[in-house]
Amino acid sequence: MSRAVHTVSVQSPHPGAAREQPRTLEVVIPVYNEAEVIDLLLERLAGALSPDKLGPLGITRARLLFVDDGSTDETAELLAERIASGLDARLVRFSRNFGHQSAVCAGLDRAEGDVVVIMDADLQDPPELLVPMLERWRAGADVVFARRRRRRGNVLKRLGYWGFYRMVAFLSDIRLPLDTGDFGAMDRRVVLALRSLPERLRFPRGLRAWVGFRQEAVEFDRPERQAGTTKYAWSKLYRLATDGIAAMSTRPLQAAQIGSFFFGLLTLGFLGMLVTGYLTRPSSIPTPFLLAYVLIATGNAVQSFCLYILGAYVGRTYLEVKARPPYLVMEVVERPPDVEGSPS
Ligand code: UDP
Ligand code: MG
Repeated sequence: MSRAVHTVSVQSPHPGAAREQPRTLEVVIPVYNEAEVIDLLLERLAGALSPDKLGPLGITRARLLFVDDGSTDETAELLAERIASGLDARLVRFSRNFGHQSAVCAGLDRAEGDVVVIMDADLQDPPELLVPMLERWRAGADVVFARRRRRRGNVLKRLGYWGFYRMVAFLSDIRLPLDTGDFGAMDRRVVLALRSLPERLRFPRGLRAWVGFRQEAVEFDRPERQAGTTKYAWSKLYRLATDGIAAMSTRPLQAAQIGSFFFGLLTLGFLGMLVTGYLTRPSSIPTPFLLAYVLIATGNAVQSFCLYILGAYVGRTYLEVKARPPYLVMEVVERPPDVEGSPS
């Protein structure tokens, strides 16, 4: 992608003042086997985004954009039914399960609202937080993200996420807000800026911090999932963690370079001493040999670790070079034009 694209999209602002004009909202919701929670979600969204709540914010239309990440239950059928009977929503269906982050990216690629919200389907991102977020947006914030004060659920997972956010923030080349997922609202100019980024392996919550603009946080206590079970298996969490780190930082790579260089030098130096010792005092061999063995074994361990890090980056570079799309859309379901809209 050419540089011109970056410049054009970032320079298409709606300055804060322009938000006084009538605006549209689009809520992007990735769904993967969420049939059990859909009706509850729609009910809570309808309550949270009623015209009397959005009117004072100057928002004239609230549309939903569901991205079905290859569900194997009846999620897609259920949503298509609701849309056919008037729900103001669109449904984008992936050809298979490409992962939550790809679904978020697909939503960002297609969202048309002046302000775009990203939220999970399972009501762990409470719809009631949308109005306070949109108030901040209307007051001039370009990105309003939700920061988790407390989270519930599986202790191991909570600990994992806690460590993950700190690790990514520590390693990242830019300042990343802690305990912040994808849940948040962003102005159209931020969406356009994100869309203009040429990389395929995108980590939306990190890139959202990377693009800059005016960012604000809204705090909340994250509730438990309201129905169904988690769709984030440990393998998916591992991928999220490694993708997040690789997308936002090259520090592990630098550490690997420095580590292997340092140990390489040390090993060479010690081997030199060993040879010199052997030539001058052949009786002094056993101890240096033992030390050399320890050093070489340690060096090996460090190198294996470095290989792991290198592999992680080389693999991702390979994927970027192949330039395969991060997801494939199988079908788009839109509301028929003649159906009278219901508030979402
Ligand atoms: N999700 C998805 N694709 C996946 C896994 C999850 O689109 O492969 C969606 C899921 O339907 C939900 C959101 O991503 O709307 C977060 O997933 P989940 O609540 O299961 O994750 P957790 O909160 O347990 O980490
Ligand atoms: Mg969840």
